[in-house]
Amino acid sequence: MTYLPSADRYQKMQYRRCGNSGIKLPAISLGLWHNFGHVDVTENYRKILHLAFDSGITHFDLANNYGPPPGSAEENFGRILKEDFRGYRDEMIISSKAGYTMWDGPYGDWGSKKYLVASLDQSLKRMDLDYVDIFYHHRPDPETPLEETMAALDLIVRQGKALYAGISNYPADVAAKAIKILKELGTPCLIHQPKYSMFERWVEGGLMDVLGNEGVGCIPFSPLAQGMLTNKYLHGIPEDSRAAKSTGFLQASQLTEERLSQIKKLNDLALQRGQTLAQMALAWLLKDTRVTSVLIGASRAEQLADSLKALDNIAFSADELAQIEAIL
Ligand code: NDP
Repeated sequence: MTYLPSADRYQKMQYRRCGNSGIKLPAISLGLWHNFGHVDVTENYRKILHLAFDSGITHFDLANNYGPPPGSAEENFGRILKEDFRGYRDEMIISSKAGYTMWDGPYGDWGSKKYLVASLDQSLKRMDLDYVDIFYHHRPDPETPLEETMAALDLIVRQGKALYAGISNYPADVAAKAIKILKELGTPCLIHQPKYSMFERWVEGGLMDVLGNEGVGCIPFSPLAQGMLTNKYLHGIPEDSRAAKSTGFLQASQLTEERLSQIKKLNDLALQRGQTLAQMALAWLLKDTRVTSVLIGASRAEQLADSLKALDNIAFSADELAQIEAIL
């Protein structure tokens, strides 16, 4: 059956300007790190993509290595784009990245111009796209000169293979340098993608100020701490959860007694606010206007539907914020 997107999808979503750029992103974006590989079920991820687009999610985040196996999320996304979303490419912001191990030898990892250019060419082939909207350097490389990595991003944008450049996992000081180099090259840094959630707050120690001051957008990844900031682990580890799967990056050992006690208390507070814990965790990030979008994952369409309702209430009283701080 042909997929027809919901006609009122843009009324359902809030859009936020990405730093000082011309681009707006949906307050909630969808990442394809887990659940879209060849190990996953096509009809399930197809449903997630349909619901996302029907809900006004215009931004889909990928990387060369997403799968498993690496590359398969891009292949599967490219196939669904062709089968179901033909004609909607101009309504989407599609991102990819390179920076982690992708192929053997010295040119398939880190941050050389050689690796970034070759990797993006491979990503474009896998997705069957002429260009991505955002191309990220996925993690800082302590050995390659920052100038070379940023020059690679600038080159890629000038070649039209990406419209915008981004960085991910860069600490505040290196991010500040990268932003400066990109500005001098004439390809401003659009966005930074850091890990940020109630359980992972390193960005608050300087990075958010750098991004705010420089007019660079921020899209926190793993905003639900890979599922820990939801109600799913309240009564043990479900069989189909990321913590239980051999292909998942969340380790059961991360669910310590202390963590579970925090999760329970946060869950109670969320219920008092009339939200699920997932909704409160996303709202908590979106209360900071420097956060352009939160980049969530979902293994089922129902989870995405739950998370999307975060937008119904992103306001916190001073008392609620103090209670959250006390729990964390
Ligand atoms: P989340 O923190 O949103 O975790 C998503 C997982 O949480 C889901 O797969 C599901 O797990 C569970 N979940 C989601 N919603 C709900 C809900 N409403 N109720 C119950 N459980 C729920 O994000 P991810 O860790 O998946 O990361 C999101 C994206 O961020 C990635 O896809 C990727 O695009 C990006 N990313 C970027 C990185 C980088 O280095 N730049 C690194 C990591 C991610 P379950 O499978 O258990 O059902």
